[in-house]
Amino acid sequence: MLAPRDLDLAYRQALDAVGRALRIPAWPEVPVRWNRRLRRAGRAIIEGHGNAFRRASIEISPAYFEVYPEDLYGILVHEAVHVGLALRGLPFGHGPDFRNACGTAGGQLHGRALPGRVYRYRCPVCESILERYRRLARDRWCAVCAEAAGGREGVDPYSPVRALVLVGTAFKGPEPRP
Ligand SMILES: [Zn+2]
Ligand SMILES: [Zn+2]
Repeated sequence: MLAPRDLDLAYRQALDAVGRALRIPAWPEVPVRWNRRLRRAGRAIIEGHGNAFRRASIEISPAYFEVYPEDLYGILVHEAVHVGLALRGLPFGHGPDFRNACGTAGGQLHGRALPGRVYRYRCPVCESILERYRRLARDRWCAVCAEAAGGREGVDPYSPVRALVLVGTAFKGPEPRP
C-alpha cells in the first residue's frame, strides 16, 4: 500500500491541475479512499450535476497501485476530471470535454488491465517462496527439492509433508501469454 502522504500529495497536485484545466477556483471536499473490491484502477462517484451538484468521492484500487504506483497521478487526474466536469455542469463521461481536460492536466485516458492475483507457496523443505497464477488443486512439489531427494534412501520426494504450502496471495501484472 502507498504511504498516505504520497497519496495526499499526488491528489492535491491532481486537483490543482484539473482545477486549472477546468477553471475551478475552489474544490468542494472530494474524499479519496481505497476500495479493495474495485475491478479497475479507480472510479468517481458523483451525486448531482452543475447547480444541483451535491457531492462526489473518488475510489482507487489498492491492488492496481501496488503494481502500477507510477499511474497514481494520471488516474487521480482522470477521476478528478469526471468530478470537475460534473461540478461545472458539463457532460462528465469520456467525451471531448473530458479528453481535453484530462490531456491538459496530464491525466491518463485509460487505466491498464487490473493485475491478477498470484498465490504464494512455501516449500517446507528449502523454505523458498514460489508464486503461481492459479491456486493449486492438488499437491505440488518444489522441483529443486524433489529432484535433490530423488533416489535418496528412505526419502519419498513426493510425500505430502514435502508438498508446497499456501502462505498467502499477492498482486502482480497480468498473466503473461504463453
Ligand atoms: Zn473514466
Ligand atoms: Zn524446495
